[in-house]
Amino acid sequence: MKTTISCWVAFLAASTAWACTSNPPALPGQSFERVSGGGEVSPQGAGVKKAQSGKRAPNRPNAGPAEAEQAPPQAAVLPRTAYDLDADVARWKTRAQADFGEVASVEVVADVFVISGPGRKGSLKGTNRTVERALEAYTNDRFGRLPARAVGVYLFPSAKSYDAFCRRHSGGACVSVYGFYMPSQRLIVMNIGLGVGTLTHELVHPIVETDFPEAPDWIDEGTASLFEAFGFTKGGIRGYKNWRHPRLLRAVQSKQDKAYAGLPTLFGMSDAVFRGENEALHYAMARYLCQWLDSRGQLWPFYQAWRDNYATDPTGEKAFRVATGMTPAEASPEWQRWVKRL
Ligand SMILES: [Zn+2]
Repeated sequence: MKTTISCWVAFLAASTAWACTSNPPALPGQSFERVSGGGEVSPQGAGVKKAQSGKRAPNRPNAGPAEAEQAPPQAAVLPRTAYDLDADVARWKTRAQADFGEVASVEVVADVFVISGPGRKGSLKGTNRTVERALEAYTNDRFGRLPARAVGVYLFPSAKSYDAFCRRHSGGACVSVYGFYMPSQRLIVMNIGLGVGTLTHELVHPIVETDFPEAPDWIDEGTASLFEAFGFTKGGIRGYKNWRHPRLLRAVQSKQDKAYAGLPTLFGMSDAVFRGENEALHYAMARYLCQWLDSRGQLWPFYQAWRDNYATDPTGEKAFRVATGMTPAEASPEWQRWVKRL
């Protein structure tokens, strides 16, 4: 429908996408790695950042700080419209059918994730079962809660259809060849043809947005990236070594970069620095810190203690010390030795 299309055009053009850079080494013909220094975003994606407003105030995705300051005083006492999950889910279904066609496969997982693709009904059965298992595992002594609001998940079976969607609605290439999450629109878009690892990564973002809204990007992306290569355990999920390891290994083996690629660098790192010129290395550091902690049974005690005590522990160093018995500086040599052995 024209109105729906217009809506998509408007929001895709105006909104900031969360390019998660869940990107293995470049595939033949892909332009991803053209951005040097590990930017790992397509030229259109360079400079596209996660919306801070979406992160800090997930229920007010379009209200920036300036807007909030300029709101008239009486706005605070106006009655608020209660959020209607059923209506929101219905809206996502309508949008999906407008984008994928009337025969689109649209299913709701865990009440809030509206997963859709161009195939006929039942075509997403296997993927949805993986999503269900991942969400069960994520909330089993790991993350504290799932999003309360609906999240649209668009799964394209190929690069061609995925890229066509981005070009149709934003006028340019997708910000990642694998997938991305737009917090301002609560929408995950991805090419599922390249594997489900990007989906298990992207699902983490709306969860962290809800569970730990103050979380810095490094721990948000670290936990998300952990599940790019994963296996299910009894009621749980574990991340395994993946394509991000060589970048980190190069750094910890380098006399020049070894000190920078240490744990103290992550703690207190701003989002801007995380997504700066060493983004690929930062992703790898965060991801392998999470895998190292998880292998020791310390990741979730650390995450939960940080989340629950953020006001007095904004960098997470106290939570890290409680979980591991070490400061980041004390743990760093042992962690780097583990990275080299991995
Ligand atoms: Zn991500």
